[in-house]
Amino acid sequence: MPMSQSFKERLFPITEQLVEHYGSPFHIYDEVGIRETGENLKKLFSGVEGFREYYAVKALPNPEILRLMLDMGFGFDCSSIGELVLSRQIGARGEDIMFTSNNTDQKEFEVAAGEGGCVLNLDDISLIDKVPDFPELICFRYNPGPRRTGNVIIGNPVEAKYGLSHEQVIDAYRLAQQRGAKRFGLHTMVASNELDYTYMVETARMVLEITSMVESELGIKFEFVNIGGGFGIPYQPDQKALDIESLASEIETMFADFKSSHSYVPRMYMESGRFMTGPHGCLVTSAINHKDIYRKYIGVDACMSALMRPALYEAYHHIDVIGKEDDIKDQVYDVAGSLCENNDKFAVQRELPKIDEGDILVIHDTGAHGHAMGFQYNAKLRTKELLLREDGSVELIRREETLDDYFATLNFEKNCFSPK
Ligand SMILES: *Cc1c(COP(=O)(O)O)cnc(C)c1O
Repeated sequence: MPMSQSFKERLFPITEQLVEHYGSPFHIYDEVGIRETGENLKKLFSGVEGFREYYAVKALPNPEILRLMLDMGFGFDCSSIGELVLSRQIGARGEDIMFTSNNTDQKEFEVAAGEGGCVLNLDDISLIDKVPDFPELICFRYNPGPRRTGNVIIGNPVEAKYGLSHEQVIDAYRLAQQRGAKRFGLHTMVASNELDYTYMVETARMVLEITSMVESELGIKFEFVNIGGGFGIPYQPDQKALDIESLASEIETMFADFKSSHSYVPRMYMESGRFMTGPHGCLVTSAINHKDIYRKYIGVDACMSALMRPALYEAYHHIDVIGKEDDIKDQVYDVAGSLCENNDKFAVQRELPKIDEGDILVIHDTGAHGHAMGFQYNAKLRTKELLLREDGSVELIRREETLDDYFATLNFEKNCFSPK
């Protein structure tokens, strides 16, 4: 089920007022839903020693959302300088932050080491010599290559640019030891939007096997393993949710078994983005035009700068029309934005109730990889973000972009170069 019944019940009755007050379009997020998902995750994994979620900042990089995560005791998965700065601005420090970069540059290493540092997750063996001050605690990202078939979205691990190859693992930890590392973690991420929980169980099994392999070669006892993100959510009404209960209980058993056979067990981390916030956000937009040519189009006031997923992945996002939730869906529309790209459509050939100009559309499941992915192509600016608080009040947590923002990078000092 996309978007919870509870979120709908609290949002839909006030949507018109919100559009009146803030103007459309906007993304709005649900504090109640985010907290429930987070608390449920903690509860389900409470039998796994040292379990911690590191929220993948790129999914919804808004400080107010990150504060909710911090409040629940979660850490942050960052992969850029901006995400590091953002996480530190809201108070995350040191081991609250995992820095999982790819194709890392020196400036990123410097920022990662600053302000109390973070857990450095190295993407490649060649980076070991490039870390300026090698930390005591180090983690590597593992890419299983042909040992694992990737899931549909992330692709085949052999073709993925991430992580150490299987053959490099032992050497990587040995070299890290030589550079002074004393504490160790292991990371992987091999799926995206995966709805089959057994795939995640196999990922946990895989990382534990790798830690055993490294332990028997180098005597390293791992402090933690991180199974990455990629926990899926159902975007389509007929899709089944990820069976997170079975996932948690099978992982609990697996880690307990590991502990009895190894007399120690690493802590387990995950870095879910989509699963934490995806269903707890939606894009609210108004119908401003309709046209009837070879197909019927509903033109809305948001465009793909607010939500790229349909254009990028042909992703399905469910749509409700406020006040017409129960009307018969006897129309077939393409719901389109205004950007000069024909894939700027939120829905293609979708059965919907008859939509009139002025109707408000709610596009579900934009709480992860929604606003954050937006761009300014075609001088289309990004929308505002709102947060529906637990007490039912609503707060602006990011304003919309203005033309001044768009022109900001054209404000610079003249700088010319003439070849000698
Ligand atoms: C994108 C990403 C995540 C989060 O992925 P979700 O699909 O949102 O769970 C976690 N870890 C890393 C390293 C990522 O790149």
